[in-house]
Amino acid sequence: MTTTSGWREVGDRCFARRYEPFDVTCGVVVGDAGLLVIDTRMSTRQGRALVDDLSALSSLPVHAVLNTHLHFDHTYGNAALRERWPDVPLVAHETVPADLVADECRIKDRYRDEPDDPCRDEVLATDLVTPDAVFSSVWSVELGGCYVEAVHPGRGHTAGDVVVRVPSADVVYAGDLVEESAPPAYGPDSWPLEWPQTVELVVGLLSERTVVVPGHGAPVGKDFVLGQRVDLADVAGQVQALAAAGVPVDDAVARGSWPFGPELVEHAVRRGYAHLARP
Ligand SMILES: [Zn+2]
Repeated sequence: MTTTSGWREVGDRCFARRYEPFDVTCGVVVGDAGLLVIDTRMSTRQGRALVDDLSALSSLPVHAVLNTHLHFDHTYGNAALRERWPDVPLVAHETVPADLVADECRIKDRYRDEPDDPCRDEVLATDLVTPDAVFSSVWSVELGGCYVEAVHPGRGHTAGDVVVRVPSADVVYAGDLVEESAPPAYGPDSWPLEWPQTVELVVGLLSERTVVVPGHGAPVGKDFVLGQRVDLADVAGQVQALAAAGVPVDDAVARGSWPFGPELVEHAVRRGYAHLARP
């Protein structure tokens, strides 16, 4: 793998770049006719820096921008891409526009309460630009000499996770369904009981040589994804068993033997119990 203007070449025509804070990854697929940009960082200011980094990589226009899921560290730079390329479609799963709007208060309240966070002002100043080219199951684009597929393999990290596959390069951008620099992030909008099956479908898209670009961290291979699937299935299985045994939700974290820390598993347990209680 080589580096071009700060971008890491993860496969033919495929690039990735890791950004602080949160060690979030943005991806780029370079076709003969234009670029596909995958995720846009966490504020309009950071999105503008991404636009600058894109021009250092290629002089071609951005053909489409894709958000792998709704979370602000992947979507709040959308305005900057639109500012630079006003007609560019913003692609995402069909749940993302409404969920992004619904999540805005939670995110901005969080930053409002963090006066010392260096990103506070830029996050609060960011205007949401929601995806306008949504899809349910699959989306594809021909970038000129390069065909790209996006798939919603099911719910997991969020309700609208999408992975992007570049078959000719054998590269998959996995968003936060796979994380390398931190454990899988179970949040208040996660689907812990479905996440293992969703990753199983992603595994079906991988060869032994596929480069998997996670939403956070360094590129990984199929073995790493399989290992993460084991841990996700462990958590889902324990949540189901504890609920079936009648263990109260407030006691469940302490009663399990988890592959991740209790603060992470808390959301998995609460969301799992809530989903099991639904008719
Ligand atoms: Zn996320």
